[in-house]
Amino acid sequence: MYDLQIIRDLAEKRGFSYIEGEPLSKHTTFKIGGKAEMFVSVNNTEELKAVLIACKENDIPYFILGKGSNLLISDRGMKGVVLTLEGKFKEISLKENTITSGAGVNLAKLCTFALNNSLSGHEFAYGIPGSVGGAAYMNAGAYGGEMKDVVKSVTHITTDGDIVTLSADELDFSYRHSVYKTTDDIIISVTVELNVDDSENIKAKMDDFMNRRKTKQPLDYPSAGSVFKRPKGNYAGTLIEKCGLKGKTIGGAQVSEKHAGFIINIGSATCDDVLNLIKFVQTTVMDETGYYLEREIIHID
Ligand SMILES: Cc1cc2nc3c(=O)[nH]c(=O)nc-3n(C[C@H](O)[C@H](O)[C@H](O)COP(=O)(O)OP(=O)(O)OC[C@H]3O[C@@H](n4cnc5c(N)ncnc54)[C@H](O)[C@@H]3O)c2cc1C
Repeated sequence: MYDLQIIRDLAEKRGFSYIEGEPLSKHTTFKIGGKAEMFVSVNNTEELKAVLIACKENDIPYFILGKGSNLLISDRGMKGVVLTLEGKFKEISLKENTITSGAGVNLAKLCTFALNNSLSGHEFAYGIPGSVGGAAYMNAGAYGGEMKDVVKSVTHITTDGDIVTLSADELDFSYRHSVYKTTDDIIISVTVELNVDDSENIKAKMDDFMNRRKTKQPLDYPSAGSVFKRPKGNYAGTLIEKCGLKGKTIGGAQVSEKHAGFIINIGSATCDDVLNLIKFVQTTVMDETGYYLEREIIHID
């Protein structure tokens, strides 16, 4: 069994903060998730490296949390260290038409930064409520754009503390997939390459995408966005609606009346409420349409 004292000592020595027993429901857009045994906020690569090496040497499990917008975390919480990226990881810099963003930056902030510098290509991501690191990990996308269209390179830290930069063609991007889904590496920064355009055009696109989200998505309720991946040749929301499942409720979890591809937390939904509703939807859609709906949101048990 591991001992977290090493992380407490490191935090005191290096000056980063941690909370023991922090409810993860405070850090997920679903507002679901039990307590993190230790919730650690690191401010720079040196602190992150020290924590990762301590975790590795002491068999302490760790998990990197972005903005928690694609996660369904167990009500039992998470053992070990849950890491969040603060401080330097929230900085953005510009060199001609490339922007390098810390992994902890909000996607919306990156989109606005691009707009303010008359750089186009990132508008699709405006309104995706994740971090830049989480977006690269997921190859997040919307309205015909994906991270893979703009990412030039990604820099990560390995479990041994080595810093590695991968170019776009090494990232194995595909629909909601990147190479990071197969490793324990932590993305520390992402460089995107954009095109110069008129800022009014860029702003018009961003506003259009945001308005479409507000019109179609249940943004007044906690959720983790689209629950299922898009099945080949169809849309998850269309299939779910066709099966009459809009409004289907289990405990505090409900298939949104506004967008059937979303499950919303209408009160105090538990992780199991959502999982049971997901299973119910998958079974019904399979029985009635023959489509298998693969989960997009990540369940942490
Ligand atoms: C209302 C709403 C609308 C949404 N719309 C869209 C949409 O249009 N398109 C879309 O693609 N998604 C959408 N999402 C889902 C979500 O916002 C994206 O998947 C987003 O990219 C997740 O980023 P995050 O920082 O929240 O990651 P988290 O949810 O915190 O984590 C997701 C995964 O990424 C990993 N991760 C996070 N940061 C790092 C890092 N620095 N290094 C390595 N791994 C990391 C985590 O460990 C976890 O496995 C939506 C969600 C909501 C709630």
